[in-house]
Amino acid sequence: MNEQRDELDANPAMVTISGIAASRGFAAGPVFVHRPDPVISVPEYEVSPDRVAAELVRYHAALDETRRQIESLISQLKDGGRSGADIFTNHLAILDDPETASAVERCVRETRVNVETAVRRTVGTYRAAFSRMSDPYLRERVRDIDDVERRVLRVLLGVAENAFAQISEPVVVVASELAPSETVAIPRELVLGFAIDSGSATSHVSLLARALGIPAVVGLGDVVARVNPGDDILLDGTNGTVTVNPDVKTCAEFARLVKRERELRVLLEEDRGREGATKDGAPVRFCANAQPGVPLGGLAAFGAEGIGLYRSEYLWLARERPPTEDEQAEAYSEAVRASAALGPNSIVVFRALDIGGDKFLRGQTASEPNPFLGNRSIRWLLSHRESFREQLRAILRASALGRSAILWPMVATIGELRAARAELEKAKDELRAAGIPFDEHLLVGCMIEIPAAALSAGQFAREVDFFSIGTNDLIQYTLAADRSIACVSYLYQPTNPAVLRLIDMTVQAANRQNIPVAVCGATAGDPVLGALWVGMGVAELSMSASYIPVLRKVLRGMTSAELREMADRARRMCDDCSAAEIYEACRSYILSKVPEMEAIQTFFTSA
Ligand code: PEP
Ligand code: MG
Repeated sequence: MNEQRDELDANPAMVTISGIAASRGFAAGPVFVHRPDPVISVPEYEVSPDRVAAELVRYHAALDETRRQIESLISQLKDGGRSGADIFTNHLAILDDPETASAVERCVRETRVNVETAVRRTVGTYRAAFSRMSDPYLRERVRDIDDVERRVLRVLLGVAENAFAQISEPVVVVASELAPSETVAIPRELVLGFAIDSGSATSHVSLLARALGIPAVVGLGDVVARVNPGDDILLDGTNGTVTVNPDVKTCAEFARLVKRERELRVLLEEDRGREGATKDGAPVRFCANAQPGVPLGGLAAFGAEGIGLYRSEYLWLARERPPTEDEQAEAYSEAVRASAALGPNSIVVFRALDIGGDKFLRGQTASEPNPFLGNRSIRWLLSHRESFREQLRAILRASALGRSAILWPMVATIGELRAARAELEKAKDELRAAGIPFDEHLLVGCMIEIPAAALSAGQFAREVDFFSIGTNDLIQYTLAADRSIACVSYLYQPTNPAVLRLIDMTVQAANRQNIPVAVCGATAGDPVLGALWVGMGVAELSMSASYIPVLRKVLRGMTSAELREMADRARRMCDDCSAAEIYEACRSYILSKVPEMEAIQTFFTSA
């Protein structure tokens, strides 16, 4: 955390704090300090042996009541057409985790403490285990566990729920942390921004803020301690700062930033509602990457034309136990409905479980010395056929509701592709036998994210309906540089000649079979790279939804001939130039056609 005080300023109360830019945009207004639920104080007492059974009855009654509350919250959200219901579906799974329930019961029986104490002790053990996880997304799931624990304790102790009922005018919410259930309870229309002491870019509040387009800065450390209710606050979610009680000069600078952003937003808005295309009208599809746990309702606002990558594994990661087939079918159906709302040509691409690498199932952590090269993704699925088919049936069931596709992750060989297809056919047979409807024409695609797949693309293209290039992995496997290790990040080069050649081979192979190619790795959301991929022949870019307006604007500013020319230049540079030189050449070329890209990039692609 980096703090600066404006020493030249006469106003001693002004303070600027830097945190993590979690959701871009600017907000100015009065502070609303949200005090989290007071730590629920749990009375600890011994229960006599003859009271143990009654204590357990009390526990199960509290679980039932908590379940009822969560279910009612879910239906309120769904009925009101609001997003966030899946957060609470996860809460139900946490609540109903049989291991937790038996651990609590054991604690009551064996240590003869009251049930509140048993809940607190048991959850404390899980909390500690989650807090030690290396994956930041999983670490953040501690908040869900806390949230469920608080709910159960409130029911047991009869403590009322805290709310945001006092907010009556637009405010910037300042809090030490926000639990998922609190973020959903917030009156959205009155919240200008979030300034939060704790959290990371993958906290719920960050995910929700991005999905709702509310500016947010998290990881501020101690902002709550530095504000009073009603203080003026300037929140810059693009650069990750907040300024409390700003002086006149700072307000003027901020106003300039806001004005500039508004002008650029107007520029981006010009293309809203138009299908993605180049300047001369060649179509380019702009799709959103999505995952369970993050609301899908905001995709239309960014102009997403479909869901190009649905990372199904997040349904597993957020839970204590694997989701059942029905739970999966429900989550996938929600995605199909959200996709259908994006337009008649929209389609949702369900990627089969991509577990392993840096995403582990519960209890699977670090069981291999090199998980990125281990039993990951399609390899894991093919070694767990029952789970694989269960997922396929769930996806097929959802496909009956709207246009869907399935995508095989991390395929290296034609054998894997065929084995996966065979499982899909078996899953279809199982549904047919049970008389359950599904889309007989469900499209099947293959991710190209291993160099072997790019080199075998000609063979693969004959057996699938589309390719989706996962540049996140393709780059790491091509350069042998782990995507999550900072000290080798200098090798993580999207425009390395080797990567460009593999992408080129993939597109050429797809063209020969007349199948489309998408890019769904993070490079799709970089205006320079996204434009380069389209110049190389990629038909669809799938990215974080909020990046779509930027990419759409840049591609609308270039003709297909110019995009091709840029790609040709990049190809020619592959013989004697570095990745950085190729990137810079592309960037300069784009800037010569779309000069406003520079400013747009600064304002719209950071958070
Ligand atoms: C990729 O590898 O580019 C990709 C989209 O998959 P993930 O980031 O989920 O591995
Ligand atoms: Mg990948």
